[in-house]
Amino acid sequence: MEVTCPTCSARFKVPDTVEVATCPYCGTTFHVHTKETGEHFFFPPMRKDAGGVLLKFLSRQYGAPADIVDAKVTKKELHWVPVYFFYLHGRSKLWPTVEEVQFMGIPAGSPFKTLLEGYPFPIRGKIFFDEAVVKKGHYYKPEVPREKAEELARVALINALQGEAAQEDHSLGDVELEVRYLGLVHYPLWELRYEYNGQEYWGYVDGTDGRVISAEYPLMSSARKKASLMALGVLGAGFVLGIAASAAYGTGLGLLGGVIPGGVGAWGIASKGVVKKRIVSEVMKGRSGNLYFQPI
Ligand SMILES: [Zn+2]
Repeated sequence: MEVTCPTCSARFKVPDTVEVATCPYCGTTFHVHTKETGEHFFFPPMRKDAGGVLLKFLSRQYGAPADIVDAKVTKKELHWVPVYFFYLHGRSKLWPTVEEVQFMGIPAGSPFKTLLEGYPFPIRGKIFFDEAVVKKGHYYKPEVPREKAEELARVALINALQGEAAQEDHSLGDVELEVRYLGLVHYPLWELRYEYNGQEYWGYVDGTDGRVISAEYPLMSSARKKASLMALGVLGAGFVLGIAASAAYGTGLGLLGGVIPGGVGAWGIASKGVVKKRIVSEVMKGRSGNLYFQPI
């Protein structure tokens, strides 16, 4: 059926069975029949087993033992993390091409607040909050006031606009900003521990769709050896380049020049070779840059 958003009047289609819809244009979540809009939501947890999802993902990672799928899950707890959702729209009054439209979730509490900072939360799929879910896991109330979260969202928006303007060699100048509060969402997060070869490892899985947010796994010794061999290879290459350079310049300085960069490169790889655990994420590609505004 076709529905009309009570906030922005946009018309869009939803499946006939749906009772609660989220406008793809402005993010408003509303009841399709009563047009009631709420302020407190949650995402229904997936049916899949979080432990199985995690181990399967890890078994596909570089240097992970194949039998990790059979590891014993020793802890599996569901947490309801409070997140403020915002709709952001900003543009430069000077430059028409400098414009940002984004949805953003700001984690507001729980021990997992930092883990979920910058997390690309889904916008659609949330429904009105139901007290019954509280009993299914650990429930956390927001500790961060809404105004503070709004301020963080505003700063992130201005930063993104500034970045865009800088790319076009402009200074940003005056801006028009809209930061609209979409509600408080309790987001399901699985905290997991598993045991492999007598050692314990941790992992966090998105409770809505099973994305692995962050997890550690044991690196097989063959993978470690390979990394060490690569390190030796880099050292060797540096040495050869150094000899070539010293021959070319007729001085011993060239040798030093080759060995030093070779050594630096090798050190980086060799130190990875010693690590027995690796941390991976299906979602967060490193912590650099602004995750909120990465192009999809
Ligand atoms: Zn709308």
